[in-house]
Amino acid sequence: MSKYWSDIVKRLDPYVPGEQPQDQKYIKLNTNENPYSPSPAVASAIHSYPIDNLRRYPDPESSELRQALANYTGLEAEQVFVGNGSDEVLAHSFMAFFQGQDTILFADISYSFYPVYCSLYQLGYTPVPLDSQFCIDVADYRGANGGIIIANPNAPTGIALPLAAIKDLLEHSKSLVIVDEAYIDFGAESAISLITQYPNLLVIQTFSKSRSLAGIRLGYALGQAALIEALNRVKNSFNSYPLDRLASTAALASLQDDDYFQLCRKRIIDTRERLNKNLLELDFEVLPSSSNFLFAQHALHPAADLYAGLKKAGILVRHFNASRVKNFLRISIGTDAECAALITALKVLLK
Ligand code: PMP
Repeated sequence: MSKYWSDIVKRLDPYVPGEQPQDQKYIKLNTNENPYSPSPAVASAIHSYPIDNLRRYPDPESSELRQALANYTGLEAEQVFVGNGSDEVLAHSFMAFFQGQDTILFADISYSFYPVYCSLYQLGYTPVPLDSQFCIDVADYRGANGGIIIANPNAPTGIALPLAAIKDLLEHSKSLVIVDEAYIDFGAESAISLITQYPNLLVIQTFSKSRSLAGIRLGYALGQAALIEALNRVKNSFNSYPLDRLASTAALASLQDDDYFQLCRKRIIDTRERLNKNLLELDFEVLPSSSNFLFAQHALHPAADLYAGLKKAGILVRHFNASRVKNFLRISIGTDAECAALITALKVLLK
């Protein structure tokens, strides 16, 4: 703390990301990264990129990428906004759409960045409790509010809401609803098909998880053109060039290689189902996941101990020290070999 800090900075309680050790010592199952390399098409696009172009600023509109995303999602380019990771897109969305006078609603157990954006922008919020099965009941979101955000599938539970529930939420909401679909490609149904019908829907997705591109920082929002215009107003008041040339090049190449994308997705879903079964055999309770991670607890062994034991064994998983979930571990889906190593280490710890 210094006397030069602004009042807002003094009050901030920043988001803490999962550990990112800079050596290769650990099997990393803690930040929901993809265990597979990006598409080979991404590698060749980066390798052959004309380096002299880096002298120039990138296209501030990211027109080519937005058009490619529009083609991929069946929308128009004016319905697509791109940013430096979906974290940035989320931050801009909180500023663009959420109204300070009324409380913002999101689940009590959800992405822990949401309350951080609220404190950054000085928005009040009300955590809405998940039910006893850790599910969202959209009927709980009908009170007066200045905006709603739902992660679908939710994180860190991994549980998905069916499209009918999202529709129900939109029908009953006068305010804007953001559906954060960071993990949508691992088994849930996207709300993109509802965009034409609902002017109050903004869908946010990312290249970080299912496209193995967390390192390039690329997220995007999809919604009716008037919403995208609001996001552009915020972006152009903050940073005109959030996407660098290499990031756009990588993203375009990734979108063009759909076979590889589908293959990786399927591999992760298959590994998840095997790991789920293996954890049940070790007497874990595992929440039903539609994402690239499992949220699991053991009746006899505190999660904090298992987390520490696994770390000693060279395996990183995520443990949240928050009341309702402090006995759970969030385990990102790795390769089959990484998940087998996890099971071997757990067998030792559970003995
Ligand atoms: N939403 C959720 C629910 C997440 O878990 C994450 C990853 N931490 C993000 C958004 C942000 O992802 P990125 O900024 O890498 O696109």
